[in-house]
Amino acid sequence: KDDAVLFLIKEGEHTLKGDNKKLYEKSLMQNQKQHLHGTSSASIVQKPGRMYLSCSVEDAGLAEEALRHLTGITGWARAKAVEKDTNTVIAASVACAKEAIEKGFLHKTFKVDARRSDKSFPLNSPALCAAAGEKILEAFPELTVDVHHPEQTIRVEVREKAFVYGHEEKGLRGLPAGTGGRGLLLLSGGIDSPVAGFEMMRRGMKLEAMYFHAYPYTGNEAREKVERLANIVGAYAAAVPGKAGLPLHVINFTDVQIALRDRLLQMQASEWGTVMLRMAMMEAADLLARKRRLACIITGESLAQVASQTVHNIACTQSRLGLAPNHYPLPVLRPLIGTDKEDIITLSKKIGAYDTSIEPYPDCCTLFSPPHPVIHGRVEEANRIYEALELSELIYSSGAK
Ligand code: ATP
Ligand code: MG
Repeated sequence: KDDAVLFLIKEGEHTLKGDNKKLYEKSLMQNQKQHLHGTSSASIVQKPGRMYLSCSVEDAGLAEEALRHLTGITGWARAKAVEKDTNTVIAASVACAKEAIEKGFLHKTFKVDARRSDKSFPLNSPALCAAAGEKILEAFPELTVDVHHPEQTIRVEVREKAFVYGHEEKGLRGLPAGTGGRGLLLLSGGIDSPVAGFEMMRRGMKLEAMYFHAYPYTGNEAREKVERLANIVGAYAAAVPGKAGLPLHVINFTDVQIALRDRLLQMQASEWGTVMLRMAMMEAADLLARKRRLACIITGESLAQVASQTVHNIACTQSRLGLAPNHYPLPVLRPLIGTDKEDIITLSKKIGAYDTSIEPYPDCCTLFSPPHPVIHGRVEEANRIYEALELSELIYSSGAK
């Protein structure tokens, strides 16, 4: 149809895979359809290394929104599909340059990049570049060709049809959702953990989230904020229509935190508060991950960002995993461990979480936190104190088990 919009989509790194490539492509196709379920007109065709999405003009905005949330693609562009006839292809290239000028992507320099996959097309790639470039220069004498740093590249791909496009959007890259196993994200209301979740989802992982709530010390605003963050991050999950992309398990940790504070006070060991809380969270996360058959635990920790995130204290936290008989410790993935705060913030803004993350509702960790927390916790000492706190029963009844 003439008024249809066509998107040419470039698939991501899975195209480099060998025998498994088909599985990734299948997931990508399925994810794409799930992302597009709100549109009525969209249809997708998959060819080696490329997908073509066409939809009505009215659905184009929704389609772009879907593409922005799709992992496993390197980019996309609105393309024109034309007949594989030399004059038609060249005319389409000129029209594409015109549109780029009108939209403000092109003022001065351009180049034409042509690929002839269909060898029956009469012009080879360099000849097609030259012919289209010449006609564009004729039509717009103010332009010049710059093959190294053009403002705008006009691309022509001669395949099943001839596809002509200019401005390209960057995709999320990574791998199609659902190809990387399943994990449990410890999701707080902060900046880091939503980004950590996104990073693992971008590697293809499907996640469930766990939030430790300490009502009434943390209010329902805090909980609601985490729910909103789960939805923001969950939008990248290619969930089945009607299902949450990132299901959220809210764990009631009030009793654990109160017991922890009171018993530490009795033991005159309040400076251990932060580390002990982290250890209790890990124990609870281990229980829930096993109950939900999730293969790993993910946190937003970043080395030395706060007192609980020194490598010593991470060792203490981690030591609470895999303690039950015949249990091996689940891996704890910390995708942000070496990432600088500035970079985390940039990503947080990019995924649309930042404005929500900085809303000022305290989470449970800012409560009861000691003024001078232990920074170089020793694992043996930490576990001796932790065992003396006898938190297991409270953790079991928190809803994690
Ligand atoms: P974030 O920005 O993710 O809140 P943070 O810099 O505040 O992280 P911490 O408070 O030390 O760091 O928390 C470290 C990690 O522990 C968090 O990234 C998150 O994965 C987990 N975590 C902390 N508090 C909670 C909570 N209330 N519920 C669930 N997970 C939590
Ligand atoms: Mg936090």
